[in-house]
Amino acid sequence: MSTHEAEGIRGDGGDSGGNDPRIVLLGPPGAGKGTQSSNIEAAFGVPHVTTGDALRANKDIETDHGTPREYMDAGELVPDPVVNEIVVEALADAEGFVLDGYPRNIEQAEYLSEMTGVDVVPFLRVEEDELVRRLTGRRVCPDCGANYHTEFDPPAEEGVCEECGAELTQRDDDTEDVVRERIRVYRENTEPVVDHYRESGELVEVNGENSPDEVWEDLREAIEGNV
Ligand code: ADP
Ligand code: ADP
Ligand code: ZN
Repeated sequence: MSTHEAEGIRGDGGDSGGNDPRIVLLGPPGAGKGTQSSNIEAAFGVPHVTTGDALRANKDIETDHGTPREYMDAGELVPDPVVNEIVVEALADAEGFVLDGYPRNIEQAEYLSEMTGVDVVPFLRVEEDELVRRLTGRRVCPDCGANYHTEFDPPAEEGVCEECGAELTQRDDDTEDVVRERIRVYRENTEPVVDHYRESGELVEVNGENSPDEVWEDLREAIEGNV
C-alpha cells in the first residue's frame, strides 16, 4: 500500500498505530474544524495543517491560475495545483498531523492518498442553518488564528483576542451570500469525499451540533478509538 511508501519517505518506519496520529478532519464550512483542530494539536501534539490559513496568508500571490483571492472571496475552490503544493510542503516533515480544509474534492483525496496514509477521518456533522449562524458570527484573530463567535464563544473582552490581545476581524468570505455559495460548493465537491472515506471505512461521524466541549469529548474518543 502507498501508506508504507509514504512512511518510508518520512523515515519514521512505524506502522499506522504509532504515537503521532494522522488525522483528516472533515466537515462543512463552519462545522468547527478550526476550533477542534486546536484541541487536537494540544492534546495529541501533532501540527495543525490548514489550507485555508495558508491561502489567506498568501491571498495576493500570483500563481499560474491567478491569485487565491479571486476564488476565496467568491467562495469557490482555489485550483488543485496551488493547494496540493501547500499540503506537500506542510506534510513533508510531519509524522502525524491534523489536516483541516483538505481534501475538498475527489482529486485532492486521490493526491493525498499518494502522499501519505491516514489513521482516522472524523466528520463533524452540522446542519445548514446552524452553519450560517456560526459563520456569519465568526470572528478571527489575524495574528494567532484563534476563532471566536459573537454569541456562542465570545472573548472576555469584546473584539479582543484572549490568546494574544490582537483586535479580532471578520473574514471577507463570512458574509451570508458567500457563506451560502461555500456550502453549495461543499455539497457538490466535498460531500463525495465524505462518502469516499465512509466507503473505505476510515470515516467516524461526530455530532458537531453540540457545545464545543461536548464535540471535543466525542472527537477525542473517536480519535483514541481509531489510532
Ligand atoms: P470551520 O473551521 O469548520 O469553518 P470554525 O472552527 O471556524 O469552523 O467554527 C465556525 C464558527 O462557529 C466560529 O465562530 C466558532 O467559534 C463557532 N463554533 C465552533 N464550534 C462550535 C460549536 N460546537 N457550537 C457553537 N459554535 C461553534
Ligand atoms: P471554512 O471555514 O469554509 O472551512 P477555509 O478556511 O477552510 O474555510 O477555506 C477558505 C477558502 O479557502 C475556501 O472557501 C477556498 O476558497 C479556499 N480553500 C481552502 N482549502 C482549500 C482546498 N483544499 N481546495 C481549494 N480551495 C481551498
Ligand atoms: Zn490572537
